[in-house]
Amino acid sequence: MRDRSCRYWQQAFQPSPYHPQQQVCNQPACQSQRRSDYHRQKIASDPVYQQVCLESPRKWRRANPDYWKKYRQAHPEQVERNCRKQRCRDQKRRLVNLANNNLATCKALSFQSLDSSGVASFASCKQHPFEIAPSAGL
Ligand SMILES: [Zn+2]
Repeated sequence: MRDRSCRYWQQAFQPSPYHPQQQVCNQPACQSQRRSDYHRQKIASDPVYQQVCLESPRKWRRANPDYWKKYRQAHPEQVERNCRKQRCRDQKRRLVNLANNNLATCKALSFQSLDSSGVASFASCKQHPFEIAPSAGL
C-alpha cells in the first residue's frame, strides 16, 4: 500500500489495511487532534449528539453528588493548585481588560487630536503611518 501524508503533521504514514481511507497517522497527538476535531464538528452539526454531550456529565453529577466534595477533602494539594491557577487566570483577565480600556482611551484621544495644520488627525494606535500619509497634505 502507498504511503500517505498525515493531515495534521504532514508526515508520511501507511494507512491501516483495515482503514484504507485513513487520513491521520497513528501518532497519539494526531489521533487526539482528530478526535477533538471530530467532536467539535459533530457537536456543531448534530443537535442530538450535542444534547447527549451536555446531559452526560449532568447525569453523572446527579448520580455522584459528593464525588468532588470528597475529592477536594482527599486532595488538598490539588485544591491549592487549582486556587493558585484560578488567581493567575483572574489576574491575567484583569490585565487584559486594563490594556483594552487603555487602548480604547488612546483611540478616543487620537481621534480628537489635531495636527499642526489644524486638520483632525485620524491616526489610531494601530494605524501604520503610511496609511495616513495621503491625508496629511490636505
Ligand atoms: Zn500525524
